[in-house]
Amino acid sequence: MLPLTENQIRDSFINASLRERKNITFPPSLDLAWDDLDYFGWRDRKLPELGYLVGWLDDVPVGIMLRRTEARTRTRPQCSWCEDVHLPNDVEFFGAKRAGAAGRNGDTVGTLICSEFQCSANVRKRPPTAYVGFDVEAARLQRIETLRQHVANFLRNVRDGS
Ligand SMILES: [Zn+2]
Repeated sequence: MLPLTENQIRDSFINASLRERKNITFPPSLDLAWDDLDYFGWRDRKLPELGYLVGWLDDVPVGIMLRRTEARTRTRPQCSWCEDVHLPNDVEFFGAKRAGAAGRNGDTVGTLICSEFQCSANVRKRPPTAYVGFDVEAARLQRIETLRQHVANFLRNVRDGS
């Protein structure tokens, strides 16, 4: 994705109040390998139940504030976005208020995501070769594309309610 500054990110949130945006704790550095990110997400170190993610939608950065919910699943959950079956990290259930009036009325969208938003790194790992002739690089590119679609769908869902 294209690099973003702290101000651009703060202004991009579509489901957070002015006060919530002011209270965001950013990671220590935004000097990231942006090219290798399909979205940028982080947890708030001061408010650990909160997470934030930013992606691009129609050439505009769209930021979403997320709240970890206490929903527990019986089996080890799979991240809905990177769909990694060999996940090296935990997955948690996050809820996002919808933008505008719908969100103010309590309407939320929920999804299971890697707890520290590691999806971009996960899909870039070389998948284990499944069989002779299996095109590892094509599979990797396909996983990156699938992740991008999941993120775009989520951003659109929170923004437009569809
Ligand atoms: Zn993931």
